[in-house]
This record gives sequence, C-alpha cells and structure tokens, in this order.
Amino acid sequence: MRVSLLYHTPDPEKVVYVAARLCYSRLPIRDIEEEANYKSPKDLIRRLKKSGHLSVFEHASFTFALEGISRVTTHQLVRHRIASYSQRSQRYVDESTFSYVVPPEIERMPEAKKLFEEFMERARQLYSKFLELGIDKEDARYILPQAVETKIIVTMNARELLHFFSWRCCRRAQWEIREVAKRMLSQAKRVAPILFEDAGPPCLRGPCPEGEFSCGKQEEVKEEFAAL
Ligand SMILES: Cc1cc2nc3c(=O)[nH]c(=O)nc-3n(C[C@H](O)[C@H](O)[C@H](O)COP(=O)(O)OP(=O)(O)OC[C@H]3O[C@@H](n4cnc5c(N)ncnc54)[C@H](O)[C@@H]3O)c2cc1C
Repeated sequence: MRVSLLYHTPDPEKVVYVAARLCYSRLPIRDIEEEANYKSPKDLIRRLKKSGHLSVFEHASFTFALEGISRVTTHQLVRHRIASYSQRSQRYVDESTFSYVVPPEIERMPEAKKLFEEFMERARQLYSKFLELGIDKEDARYILPQAVETKIIVTMNARELLHFFSWRCCRRAQWEIREVAKRMLSQAKRVAPILFEDAGPPCLRGPCPEGEFSCGKQEEVKEEFAAL
C-alpha cells in the first residue's frame, strides 16, 4: 500500500485561524492575516474544536494519492460523501494482469493462501479470455474479485478528515481502510499538527462510544496514535 499526501492548502492552520478570527473581529481581513503571522493558532483551534465551530476547518484542503489498495477498501472510502474522488477506471484500463491484495489472515494460513492465489489466477485467465472473445472491458470486469488493486486520488477538507479519522482509525474499522486512514493521518499531522493533534478514534478524546462492541484497549490505542 502506498499513501501520499500530494497537495494541501499552503498554510492550513493559518487559513483556519484567519477564517475563525474574522467571525469575531472588527479588524479588516488583512490585519487579521498580519496577526496570524505572529500569533500561534493553537488556542483558537482548540477552542473551535471544543465549541464545535468546525465550519472554518473546511477552508483547509488535503489531497492524497492511494495506490496498491483493494476495491474492498475504495468501496468503503467513497461512502464518505464530503470528498472528491478520481479512481482508475475498469471500463478503460485493461486488468488482465491485475495485482491483488491478500488479507494478512489469509497470508498467514498456507492452505487458504494457496486457494486464494489459485482463484486470482483463474480470474485473470477468465478475464483475458473474455477480452479475447471480444467482450468489452466494462463487461469483462464483472468477474474481477474485490481484492483487485486500484489507485484513487481523494481530496477532503480538514473537517471531513477529522470525521473520517474518527470512524476509520477506530479498531472497529476493517483492517485495510484503517491502515489507509492511519497513514493519511500521519501525513496530515506533519503539515497541520495542531489541526490534527487529537485526530483518530473517539477514545483518544473521551470514552469509547461503541458500548458492547468496544475493543476495550483505550490505553493501547492512545500509545498507537501518539507514535504516529
Ligand atoms: C465500522 C464501520 C462499519 C460500517 N458498516 C456498514 C454497513 O454494514 N453497511 C453500510 O451500508 N455502511 C456501513 N458503514 C459505512 C457508514 O454507515 C457510513 O456510510 C460511512 O462511514 C460514511 O460516514 P458518514 O455517513 O458519517 O459520513 P460522510 O459521508 O463522511 O459525511 C460526513 C458527515 O456529513 C453529514 N452528512 C453527509 N451527507 C449527509 C446527508 N445526505 N444528510 C445529512 N447529513 C449528511 C453527516 O453528519 C455525516 O456524518 C460502516 C462504517 C464503519 C466505520
């Protein structure tokens, strides 16, 4: 899996600071911008999060490139609606030599891995046969497994990212999208450490909301995310 932060709003925390200060100040925007050059946004950003004034976070945008992930994962990813996506098309791109993702649990079990690989090989052969028979890629793809690797570019603003990290960094999330989310968070933190300082599953910020489904490992999770 490769996850890279391709682009982002040049100074994500400054734009949030300026947008928030503007709401409560009589100063001209230029003066607020000037103020933002020497004042730390830390206290203001923390207050905004606490009060739920999150719309100002929408001014900061982040674009990630995700490669070597399965269609299982992109199907979950695109359920997040406040985002923009561009994904490699199975209508236009020939998938006869497709790569695929092997879940770690299957990887660890030799018998299961062998069956999995045989099935993938069979799917490759069938797909190629369909193309040979003149079937369009858009129809031949119906026999492709969900494990097939794909590439996708996703853009989210900081508000949606905080929401996405809450759901998808949780131990209740499926392993592959959780790994994607953790890598996205790690890279977002490097360019906006205050915006994302407490980002991740809800148990980093308070009690776990999962009730009987809680993993019960809040301390472990805290350590995991402190190390990101
Ligand atoms: C552990 C886990 C298990 C899951 N299991 C299933 C499952 O079994 N079946 C299934 O179908 N899905 C499942 N999902 C997907 C889940 O239901 C959501 O579709 C997905 O997480 C997107 O989140 P979202 O809808 O909160 O937010 P996003 O689409 O990311 O939107 C962000 C927020 O914007 C607001 N918003 C967005 N669109 C609207 C709207 N139309 N109206 C009002 N408010 C809106 C909401 O406040 C929303 O929380 C699962 C997700 C997780 C994390």
